[in-house]
Amino acid sequence: MTPNNKVPQTYCLRCGTCCKKGGPALHHEDRVLFDQGLLSWAQVYTLRRGEMVRDLDDRLVPLDQEIIKIKGRDRAWTCLFYEDAHKKCRIYPSRPVECAALKCWDPRPLREAMKRPYLKRLDLLGRNSPLAQVVRAHEGRCSYQAIEGVVKHLESPDACKAANHILELVSYDDFVRSFVIKRLNMDSGATDFLFGRALRVTIRTFGLQVKQEGDTLFLAPRPSHRLDLPRSGRQAGKTSQRGTKTGH
Ligand code: SF4
Repeated sequence: MTPNNKVPQTYCLRCGTCCKKGGPALHHEDRVLFDQGLLSWAQVYTLRRGEMVRDLDDRLVPLDQEIIKIKGRDRAWTCLFYEDAHKKCRIYPSRPVECAALKCWDPRPLREAMKRPYLKRLDLLGRNSPLAQVVRAHEGRCSYQAIEGVVKHLESPDACKAANHILELVSYDDFVRSFVIKRLNMDSGATDFLFGRALRVTIRTFGLQVKQEGDTLFLAPRPSHRLDLPRSGRQAGKTSQRGTKTGH
């Protein structure tokens, strides 16, 4: 019993809070979900190395390696596979490693699971495939380390050149996405897996925003409200102290 005489929770209440906070990051063991056709490239997105995310403690941190996550739905973080009507996961028997480890009453198994090797884009694309080469070329030009280097020059006498360079990268990022959709007949949803979240969106983590008038792009400071950023992995909902055992 807890000090306030409540029974400690030791099982899932199926409240759905955890799944509504966002889908899991994927690890090597989760590759089987793609092999079995339970997951497609269009259902996941990549957070690239150096991208700003919120960690499990809600701190804003740059990722030290790329991770692939299951997408949200309805313009929210709620996992694509969470079914509100029945409060259940549509792939529960095959759910990813982080989901199997998550216990909202005990953070330790999830923290252990997050130490396992993450699945990478090249694991799924094949290291020498033509698409892997396109992904490498994009990363070589648009890495967050490279962008950070250019952003620093916005405060220097070279500010105009730096702003143009950033806009060139945003245009290149747009171009690569439309190229693979049109030329390779790729599902448009797969571009967030191949190239990560669009630079037009993530540039906001540098305090900037891209505006467009006709075909012309402009850089401007972004409004200073809190950014709604993805999390580096699954996050538990608040621990409930009592409930009826139902299983998931
Ligand atoms: S895969 Fe299933 S268990 Fe995991 S976050 Fe999505 S709905 Fe929840």
